[in-house]
This record gives sequence, structure tokens and C-alpha cells, in this order.
Amino acid sequence: MTVVHDGARLRISVFTGGPFQENCYLVHCVASGRAAVVDPGAATPELVQAATKAGLTPEVIWLTHAHLDHVDGIPALLGAFEVPIALHPDDHELYRRAPDQARAFGLPFLGELPDPSLEFEAGQEIVLGECRFDVRHAPGHAPGHVVLVEHDEAVALVGDVIFQRSIGRTDLPGGDTQALLASIRREILTLPDGVRLLPGHGPPTSVGDERMGNPFLRPMTGGPGRTLA
Ligand SMILES: [Zn+2]
Ligand SMILES: [Zn+2]
Repeated sequence: MTVVHDGARLRISVFTGGPFQENCYLVHCVASGRAAVVDPGAATPELVQAATKAGLTPEVIWLTHAHLDHVDGIPALLGAFEVPIALHPDDHELYRRAPDQARAFGLPFLGELPDPSLEFEAGQEIVLGECRFDVRHAPGHAPGHVVLVEHDEAVALVGDVIFQRSIGRTDLPGGDTQALLASIRREILTLPDGVRLLPGHGPPTSVGDERMGNPFLRPMTGGPGRTLA
């Protein structure tokens, strides 16, 4: 476990594991004691242990998108906490096909996934205690991918849209490179440079670092660069 954001009202810890080294996040509103889990993947058992030790009871699962590595810890989480699942409707099909995704990667998929009972939509504001997250729809890596931005805390959970010096792959079903670049330009590069980005894989980065240094976002490579932001 590593604390990747420790703000006035919000604390976020990351747990990483599995063949895809996926990051699951425990999101904790310090002021209210309320907690959520983002993208429960292979490291979910560690997250459950840490939450229990800290006396936290996560009340909801927020899925940035429904790729296998972001949902395969759901059974482990539900074994410990009874929580609803929030997902954008454009990723419901991917979610239903999680067992097929596992087969495609030659991985076993154990456990039933319950249907999401909460739907993300663009422009929605979701509240966790005293923290407020702005839901942004960012398709391209997956059709129903969302990014969750806490503006006051200058932090965003970005899933597999953008990584440190890289962007999400677009060769999986429903992927679209032009849509992904447009999403990054519209939903990420419009944020202030100081906003910290917490991705689904790899270390945290920031809007400014990626605006300046991400090779996929330079105008000469066809991506949205600084002049287009
Ligand atoms: Zn993904
Ligand atoms: Zn991923």
C-alpha cells in the first residue's frame, strides 16, 4: 500500500498486483470517514485488509471501465463488504463479457459478477462525504470509460486513459485511437497543470507533466499537444 494523495479532506491509497500490475485505489474522505473503492483488481485482498485495519467500510465500487484487470477483484471485495457497483452504461457489454476477456488472455476467471446498480453519466457529480467528484466520459480505450476529478483536491482517477508518458491501448474491442486522443484533449488537458493523475497502471503523474512530456500528445505525432489544449 502506498498513499498517493493526502489532501485536506481526501486520502487515496493504491494497491497494485496481478499479471497486469493493475492499480486499485482506496478513496477515503478523511472528514467524514466514508470510503469508496476504484477499480478492484488483483490486489483487492490487500486493499480489504488495509481498509479493515483502518476501520473503513467502503460503501461503493466505482469502475473507470470494465476491462478484466479492473474488475477481477470484485468477488473478493464483495466477500468482505456489501457494496453497489457504479459503471458507465457504454461499458456494460464489456462488463458482462469479463469471462470472455479472461479466456482471451488465457486467464482463469473465478466468481460471478453482480450487475452494476449505479450508472455514471458525463457531467454528473458524485459525493463521498465532503468530497465531490466530477464524472467525465472519456471513451477510446473503452467505450464507457470515465475519469473522476476532485477539483478542490486537484486529483483525478484516470483509469487507462493516460499514463506517465503513455496513453491507453486502443487495440481491444471497442477501442478507438482518435476517440482516445479527443477524450484526452477534452477531459484531461483542459484541467489545470497541477492536477495529479492517478492511472490504472504505473505511477502517479500530473496534467502538466503529460502536457509537456507525453510523446503521444505532441502535435507532430498527430496527438493533441500544448497548442491545442
Ligand atoms: Zn483497460
Ligand atoms: Zn488496465
